Amino acid sequence: MRRYGEYEQENKALRKRKRKQAMQRKIIGFCLFTFLLGVLCGRIVFAKDVEEEPAQSLAENTESIEYGLEESWQGQEASEMAIAGSMISAGREAEEEEEEDWKLTLVNKWNPMEDGYKPAVAEIENNYYFDARAVGALQEMLADGRREGLDFWVCSAYRTIEKQTDLFEDKVRRVMAETGLTGEAAREEAGTEVAYPGTSEHNLGLAVDIVARDYQILDEKQARTAEAQWLKENCWRYGFILRYPTDKTEETGIIFEPWHYRYVGEKAAKEIMEQGICLEEYLDAVERNI
Ligand SMILES: [Zn+2]
Repeated sequence: MRRYGEYEQENKALRKRKRKQAMQRKIIGFCLFTFLLGVLCGRIVFAKDVEEEPAQSLAENTESIEYGLEESWQGQEASEMAIAGSMISAGREAEEEEEEDWKLTLVNKWNPMEDGYKPAVAEIENNYYFDARAVGALQEMLADGRREGLDFWVCSAYRTIEKQTDLFEDKVRRVMAETGLTGEAAREEAGTEVAYPGTSEHNLGLAVDIVARDYQILDEKQARTAEAQWLKENCWRYGFILRYPTDKTEETGIIFEPWHYRYVGEKAAKEIMEQGICLEEYLDAVERNI
């Protein structure tokens, strides 16, 4: 015989279960409704953008998408996800185009940097800075080499125009004292060893000088160190090139510098290093193909 209390308890449990099931059905229904509404609103917003303003920039598009969202429904996950996905892919395309530009900026004595250009930089190590968009690739390259037992020493990276000007003027003074040259002749002579302000890749923030810690002299013998050899072999994997190879002095305007590495992005780096060409030749080829 069951007592009344037991029935009461069972009934209670049953009612609780039913309430729980009803709540679950409500939640599922609400989620489905939200999802459908979200997809619908997302479509309407996109369709409106495409029809009315086909040539909008990404920033404007993003704004109108956000505006549309506020108007329609707050907190609809599906719609937000659809929009986020679309923004990411649109952003990626724009980013890819922009990426090619900044990575391949040509700076040499015939092509000075844009006036007033100042990259956003981040520290590599030891108070040396690099373009913030590529500093990660550089750090990865250094870390991977070090893991293989190499002892890299970064001895120059980003230089402000002011710093480059100081270096150049200092060189002019030394040339004048050593050779007796004056004026333009002294500046020209100085320019063969220290780049004129705005014509050094170090001002661009995409160049780094790396040597072996136990051989820090900037001469051709640097190329014989294990560090320089590893860099030459592996730099392209990280988007870097040996910028001034031994046989490209005429094209680059700079003597062989086994320590100077330039970031150009992985695609260009692979082609440049594989083909044994310099950045000037690569850009010429790219231009001819367009
Ligand atoms: Zn350099």
